[in-house]
Amino acid sequence: MRFEGNLQTSSAPRIIKKPTQIKMQKPNKRLSNQTAIVTGASSGIGISIAHGLGRDGANVVVNYFSNAESAEELAHLISVDKTCGDAIAIKCDVSKENQVIEMYKQTINHFGTVDICVANSGLQKDAPMHEMTLAQWQLVIDVNLTGQFLCAREAIKEFMRRGPRPEVSKALGKIIHMSSVHEVIPWAGHANYAASKGAIVMLMKTIAQEYGPIKIRANSIAPGAIQTPINRSAWETPEALNDLNKLIPYKRIGQPEDIAAAAVWLASDESDYVSGTTLFVDGAMTCYPGFATGG
Ligand code: NAD
Repeated sequence: MRFEGNLQTSSAPRIIKKPTQIKMQKPNKRLSNQTAIVTGASSGIGISIAHGLGRDGANVVVNYFSNAESAEELAHLISVDKTCGDAIAIKCDVSKENQVIEMYKQTINHFGTVDICVANSGLQKDAPMHEMTLAQWQLVIDVNLTGQFLCAREAIKEFMRRGPRPEVSKALGKIIHMSSVHEVIPWAGHANYAASKGAIVMLMKTIAQEYGPIKIRANSIAPGAIQTPINRSAWETPEALNDLNKLIPYKRIGQPEDIAAAAVWLASDESDYVSGTTLFVDGAMTCYPGFATGG
């Protein structure tokens, strides 16, 4: 039977929220006495994840590459909120080895250790494959893949140096990679991006296999279409949003909070037996919506 009600699938898009405008659900404090690094946390999904982890009791490093003001504002917001952990903002280009090492050093100096790494930074440099420059290819691979490798590697080193703290978490440490539905859906005009996200799967699974025996968990989140600056053109007009909704069986664009809720759960002991997997948070975008009417 077909639902004929008004789902308001093409309503005017919500505006991008500033850190001060975000309302999270009541926190559970699942992450007290833990420290998380969230990369790319001065905008979009990263803001919500950093805020969500802080609200659940974690100390948070708000990593940023650009928009220092937003990162500082978010770190301030978390740190002055008595219901949250502490927070600081640290600038770092995740594609640069020395800067990632330095970010971990500063974090450990400030908070003592790192328990959770959310490798969220990412970008797009789109072009048809036959026109894609090596520079466009390389930048996306450097940030989206090498950046996640460097952050995960430094996290693993710190988890091993620090050793277990069973009173804090069942796991030695947790790594959360930000992937995309494009780890499985090919994307014409975005070969560099799709390749970077496809590679994240094997990076994440190999970490889970290699370090599972010492209780390090690695997982990915694969967002569908989430309303952030990275995909503004896909939602900023009602027409674009209507077109986008054709790709989403659940008939709404995702919000950064949808991804934050998944990240906080993956960081917590509630997901202690979850490792080596991708959690798709996509309103069923990966369920072949084109076949909904018979294909
Ligand atoms: P966004 O553009 O708001 O966030 C990306 C962040 O990465 C920005 O804060 C940016 O400054 C940061 N960044 C870029 N280069 C960096 C570098 N060299 N070092 C450190 N940080 C750097 O977009 P978003 O949607 O919040 O994206 C976050 C992640 O989610 C990305 O990995 C993206 O691929 C992924 N994702 C987003 C969507 C979506 O629909 N928004 C869908 C699937 C996957």
